[in-house]
Amino acid sequence: MPHIFYLFSIFTALLSPFYLSAQTRTPLYSSQSGFIAPLDIPLVLSGNFGEFRGDHFHTGLDFKTQGKEGFPVLAVADGIVSRVKVKPWGYGHALYLKHADGTTTVYGHLSRYALPISEWLLERQYSKRSFSIDSRPATEISFSVGDTIGWSGNSGSSGGPHLHFEVRDENEKPINPLQWGFHIADSQSPKVGSLRVIPIDSQGLENRSQTREVKSGGVFEIPSGNIRLAVEANDQLDGASNVCGVYSLEVFVDGDLYSSFFIDTLDFSTNKDMNAHAYYPEWKSSRTQIHRFTPLPGNRLSIYEFTPVVQLEVVEDSTMHISVRCSDAHGNTTTKGYTLFGGSSFEQTIASSQSESVFCPAMPSTVTTLEDGGVEVVWPERSFYNRETASLQVFSNGEFFIGPEDAALAKSFRVNLNDLEGDLSKLVAVSLSEKGIRLGVEICESQGGVVSFSSRRMGRYKLVRDTIAPRLLPKFSATPLVSNGNLVFHLEDELSGVSKVEGFIDGEWVLLRWDPKMKTAVYSVTDLHHIPGVKSQITVRVEDGVGNESFWTGSVEMGK
Ligand SMILES: [Zn+2]
Repeated sequence: MPHIFYLFSIFTALLSPFYLSAQTRTPLYSSQSGFIAPLDIPLVLSGNFGEFRGDHFHTGLDFKTQGKEGFPVLAVADGIVSRVKVKPWGYGHALYLKHADGTTTVYGHLSRYALPISEWLLERQYSKRSFSIDSRPATEISFSVGDTIGWSGNSGSSGGPHLHFEVRDENEKPINPLQWGFHIADSQSPKVGSLRVIPIDSQGLENRSQTREVKSGGVFEIPSGNIRLAVEANDQLDGASNVCGVYSLEVFVDGDLYSSFFIDTLDFSTNKDMNAHAYYPEWKSSRTQIHRFTPLPGNRLSIYEFTPVVQLEVVEDSTMHISVRCSDAHGNTTTKGYTLFGGSSFEQTIASSQSESVFCPAMPSTVTTLEDGGVEVVWPERSFYNRETASLQVFSNGEFFIGPEDAALAKSFRVNLNDLEGDLSKLVAVSLSEKGIRLGVEICESQGGVVSFSSRRMGRYKLVRDTIAPRLLPKFSATPLVSNGNLVFHLEDELSGVSKVEGFIDGEWVLLRWDPKMKTAVYSVTDLHHIPGVKSQITVRVEDGVGNESFWTGSVEMGK
């Protein structure tokens, strides 16, 4: 008896570090920095660090700005301007401040910059003849804590006025800013929803069409066999209805720690592996944040603290208890339990409905190639996160289907179309949903009779020629002038999209501030000196992704 007790104690001692690390863990970074808040209004988040976004984890905090633009944005600490980045998309007008401790803070979607940055930027844009700028001012510009560095806005790929705020370490890796102790009200615990039970075969091929949804409480019978698990989890903070991301998940299977992750830091070089962390079919279809417990073989994220060493198997006539503990960055915690009962084993059925398709096994480590009916698809190595079955079907109307549609990809695949006839210029590949709704457009290249394009979205495609030039006209009827004297143009392009916008006044290049989401390009009348009573010749040129162009010319009195 003493011997048994002794062995048991050793066993417990061996296991306990995992429990300890799970329960007494301190975040990688703590609120020592003394950063002040970047806005002088009550801090309410519409997005947090680590939430799922498009094809990546969100790397900062989104502070709500009461639905409007123009709040002063403050330097959170003394710092030197290390980068000014202006783009029509992404963070729009962004500022990077480097601090003495090696960290950098990033402020995105600004409406405008404070002096002297605004002056430096305008000079730079005119000398480079470019709206987009990504540069560090040659003369050092520094700000003290609390200084206004610019004003909040809605520039770039922003879904509404807010401030995107990011903290990066000395290696440019984003850090969870909620560890800096900003006063953000958060009395709400994370929401943990249903479990997803994904059957897999002995080699890890997932049968996602048979994934079961299991609710907390009760006992759920599922077919016995090997499985992977994922759970729906998200978070909300006070004062906003926005669905945010969770900070950590710890999973226990039959009482033992099975897996855990903590989103303290992220890494831009692997950030798109969010698609592999997510249960991709549902992220893709419904934007539900479902977290996998087992990282897929090709997943390079470094958020996992404890990863499973054994394959989970539901044994016939046996139960399996799964406990999920989920935390937000403010320490609110939710725990949910799920019980699985092993039923009779699942019958492996081979998909026969797609007998017109060609198939091949796809592995993360190798190049995968499929060819049929003049269509060749090439996935480079490390495209797939998991073992998959790649498929290709070419239809009689020239459309084709690339599968599996419900698998995430780490890289773009290449499609080469060989047997096309007619004019091969200005072709685009349109990705279609099952119902024929356009999901995306890829611009094709044509060389030596072969038409090619790259994409990361599998599914149905059709080729279309884009011969229609962009739409370009004054935004306001009769005249492009608005009350404050600016020139405002409306521009859009249906298929390949607007790719270039240029403006000239009396033959001289002028800055057009292009906002693709608003479909506008604006010349600010204060940029140059205009003589009252003298008309200027205005020319605007817009080009789409395949080279179709539109012009607007007119004679306008600019001075007042
Ligand atoms: Zn953001």
